[in-house]
Amino acid sequence: MGCIVMLMRKHRGLFLKQPRLLVLEEVPTPTPTREAVLIKVLSAGICHSDIHRWKGEMPCPEGFEAGAGTHEVVGKVEERGEMVPEYIKEGQKVLVYFLRNYREEDKYTRRGLAHHAKTPIFIGGMQEYVLVPTYHCLISIENLRDIHAAPPLACAALTSYGAVKKLKSYVEPDDYVAIIGLGGLGSYAVQWLRILFPYVNLIGIDVKDEALNFAAKFAKIDVLINAAKEDPAKIINEVTRNDGVKAFIDFVGSTGTINTYIKMLSHLGIYVVVGTMGKEVILPVLHTLIAKEFCLQGSFMGSIQDQYEIVEFARRGLLNYSDVVTRRLKFDPVEVNRAYQDLDEGRVLGRQVVIFE
Ligand SMILES: [Zn+2]
Repeated sequence: MGCIVMLMRKHRGLFLKQPRLLVLEEVPTPTPTREAVLIKVLSAGICHSDIHRWKGEMPCPEGFEAGAGTHEVVGKVEERGEMVPEYIKEGQKVLVYFLRNYREEDKYTRRGLAHHAKTPIFIGGMQEYVLVPTYHCLISIENLRDIHAAPPLACAALTSYGAVKKLKSYVEPDDYVAIIGLGGLGSYAVQWLRILFPYVNLIGIDVKDEALNFAAKFAKIDVLINAAKEDPAKIINEVTRNDGVKAFIDFVGSTGTINTYIKMLSHLGIYVVVGTMGKEVILPVLHTLIAKEFCLQGSFMGSIQDQYEIVEFARRGLLNYSDVVTRRLKFDPVEVNRAYQDLDEGRVLGRQVVIFE
C-alpha cells in the first residue's frame, strides 16, 4: 500500500576533475555511524600543498578530490554517530584536526600523533559537508572571536608551531634563529618564535620584500634579509660575529636553501626542514655534521596536543590569526579556481579562506 521514498541527501563541493579545474558538483551527503561526525563546513583554507595536486604535479589520493586536498576546515557539528560522546554537541563549532583522520587506531594515534597514523584517510574539505571518521580529531572553537579566519590554524599555524617547538632543547638566550621563507607559514612562525622563545634574536629571510614586510607586521624581526638582493652569508657572519645561527627553520626546503644555509649553522645547532621543494641533501659528514654536532630535523605538521595549544593561544589573543588571512572568498568555482592560480603564481601574501556561510 504505502510506498517509502528514500530521499538521498546531497550537498555541493568543488571537486578536482582535471588539472587546474575544480568543478562544482552535487554528491551524496554521508550519514555518520559509530565514532564519525558529520560537519557542516563554515570555512576552509587554501594551502600550498593543495596547489601541487590542483596542477596535477602530485597525485590526488582518493577522497581528497574536494579542493584537491583541502585540509583546513572549521565547521559546525551537524550529526553524530552513536558512539560519539555527549560533550560533542550538535551545533558546536569545531576545528577539524587536519582532516588527516585514520581508519584504525595504532600506537601513534593513541598518543595523539595522528599525523603519523599508519592508516590515514584523506578527506578533501572544499565541500558543504564532510564526514570526519573519528570525533577525536575535533577541537571546540566556540570561544574564538574570528571563526572564519580559523581554518589555517589546522595546517599553516600547526605546521609552523610543530617546527618551532622542535627548537626547545637547542636555543638559549641571545642565540640567533633564522626563518627561511616568510610566506603563509612564516607569518605564524615568527609569532610562535616570539611567544615560545622571546629571548632569541630573530632573522627573517625571503626573496621578496613584500613577504619580509608582511611577516614583520606580526612580530619583531631583528634582521630582515632579502636573499635575492643581499648576501645572506655576509650579513649572518656580521650579526652573529662569525658564530652562526643556532637554529634554522626552512619553509622552502629546496636543495639550494638547505645546502646554502646549513653551512651557516653554529655548533650544537638545529636545522629544521619543513618545505618540500628539495630532492636530496649532501652533507660533509666529518667537518660539519660530526664536528659541529648539529641536528638535521624534519618536521611534519604537529600533534593533536599541539592543535589544542594553538587554539588556546588564538583564544587568548596571543596569536594574531585574523590578519594573516588576507583574502576571504565566496564558495564559488570561478573565485576559488582563481585563488588557486593566484597562490600558484605568487600573488598571495598570507592565507586565503573560502567562506561557506
Ligand atoms: Zn597545508
